[in-house]
Amino acid sequence: MCGIIGYKGKDDAKKIIISGLYALEYRGYDSSGIAFNVNNKIKIVKSEGKVSVLEKKIKDDANPSHVGIGHTRWATHGKPNDINAHPHKVGITTLVHNGIIENYIELKNKLKSIYNFKSETDTEVAGALIDYYVKKTNNKLKAIKCAQEEITGSFAFVIIFDDEPTTIYATRRNSPLIIASKEHNFYLASDIAAILKYTNKYYLLDQNDIAVIDDKITIYDNKLNVVTKKVNEYHGTVDDVMKNGFKHFMLKEIHEEESVYNNIIKAYVPNLNIKELQKNFGDFKKYTKINIVGCGSAYHVGMAAKYLFENYASIPCEVEMASEYRYKKIFPSKNELVILISQSGETADTLEALRKAHENKIDTLGIINVLSSSIARESDRVIYSLAGCEIAVATTKAYLSQLLILSLMAILISYEKGIISEKKANNYIADLLKLKKITKGIINNKEYYKNIAKKIYQNHEMFFIGRNIDYALCMEASLKMKEISYVHSEAYPAGELKHGTISLIENNTLVAGIITEKNIMAKTISNLKETTARGANILLVITKELFKKYKDDKFYKYLIVIDNINPFFDSLPVITSLQLLAYYVALLKGENIDQPRNLAKSVTVE
Ligand code: GLU
Repeated sequence: MCGIIGYKGKDDAKKIIISGLYALEYRGYDSSGIAFNVNNKIKIVKSEGKVSVLEKKIKDDANPSHVGIGHTRWATHGKPNDINAHPHKVGITTLVHNGIIENYIELKNKLKSIYNFKSETDTEVAGALIDYYVKKTNNKLKAIKCAQEEITGSFAFVIIFDDEPTTIYATRRNSPLIIASKEHNFYLASDIAAILKYTNKYYLLDQNDIAVIDDKITIYDNKLNVVTKKVNEYHGTVDDVMKNGFKHFMLKEIHEEESVYNNIIKAYVPNLNIKELQKNFGDFKKYTKINIVGCGSAYHVGMAAKYLFENYASIPCEVEMASEYRYKKIFPSKNELVILISQSGETADTLEALRKAHENKIDTLGIINVLSSSIARESDRVIYSLAGCEIAVATTKAYLSQLLILSLMAILISYEKGIISEKKANNYIADLLKLKKITKGIINNKEYYKNIAKKIYQNHEMFFIGRNIDYALCMEASLKMKEISYVHSEAYPAGELKHGTISLIENNTLVAGIITEKNIMAKTISNLKETTARGANILLVITKELFKKYKDDKFYKYLIVIDNINPFFDSLPVITSLQLLAYYVALLKGENIDQPRNLAKSVTVE
């Protein structure tokens, strides 16, 4: 959460920081701020609201500046307002922060006789702690190290000091931060999107490292020894972080789904062959149990994969929300694999769940999109989901990439266990070409979804019902709908509705039924009819083969029919179609699709 950018160099720091903040705005957008050096004095400008408000505020500031730090906030402690916005200045210390200082009350009590706190934030307290140690030790590095040792929680700090206003200090623990340089220009950022215009090469800070940027970059470990870091390279392009003519990143990213499938084919099964999949994914023969851990849509991916693993690969699979897993009692078994799913690879709860699995000596596999991110680095093995840069807060292509990776894994395990033959496995994998074609067809036919959206966008609530894997799809479809359009939406196992929730169904309540599985089709249809008997309008989302049987039974008002592929891949195009529907509902309602209220991409706080 939150975007941090720092710059020192030959160019105009304010300009570079504002443009970086725009690129990072998807990480947090309730307020923003900038601190920059003008004639060796630190000037701070901050503002509630979007980066555009901040930009207007500093537009007329003609003072040249070559050093500065900026922040776009996702509030955790204190309302989004000008005072709580970062940077915070305490004594001679000015800082921006991503993360949460968990013991800030305790620290505040310790420091309140020395500092007069102005904001409600935990960040200002961290700033005071650093300032306190700067005065005590007269050494910035030691001061930052002392503060780190006293802080419980997560942080990426970028700091400038009044008495050294051309030097930038930075440190991190559990929140991301990268550093880069190009031709005597130095950059710090929460992620590569902010600096990709200038360079694609960067350094990663390890836990508790401290970086100092004066006329070069020096990085110290937590014992204050200078360390050498390897240079990482981002292989995406600037186009990845631009809208390229689309009205929203979300629509652009849905359009990129076909090419995400191409990436996965190219990297893992270029010849559409199970043996090469096995070579690239590694083998899973020793495992007798799988536990999938994720948050939000990643959790929904796990829910869908559970049915594939259990039904078709006969391996027991449990799915946990990372925020629950990390605090519950777990019962590790010898041949268990924990799969951690995260787009950013920095999701705080998922990262801690990974560490818990390791403490319990359980093997871990990360399904991660962002290369070299924390979860990717700390997992025993990693399979990259290769979705490319995803900017819209509501995930689309990254969800599908994760589900495709797990679907391929289910095929592989099924093959390894002898449930399906090599030939059958190869046939399933060859269906990837069909999957691409069907996805493309859905996207080309987007007007169809827009037309349904026109009929339903004024509904205030919606239910998605289905059974087994269809229920898992309902969870994701429902989340997509509510997170961007604010239509109150709930996902329910179709058979569960009558145990309570059916009391909410009244005349014209919209109920979407998802049906991709033959053996539960009739049951879900009955449950849908139970709702029409109480006045509901039905949106039927069904695969083509199954629909044949119901063509003449017009119990639905709206219809989405999806071509069949095979049981491992049928879910994916269903989600593409419902992403488009959610997009158009939000568009017709005039909502801020890429930056829905109260949300942020890359959830690096608990
Ligand atoms: N905890 C800090 C605050 O609420 C930082 C939040 C963020 O990461 O944006 O200001």
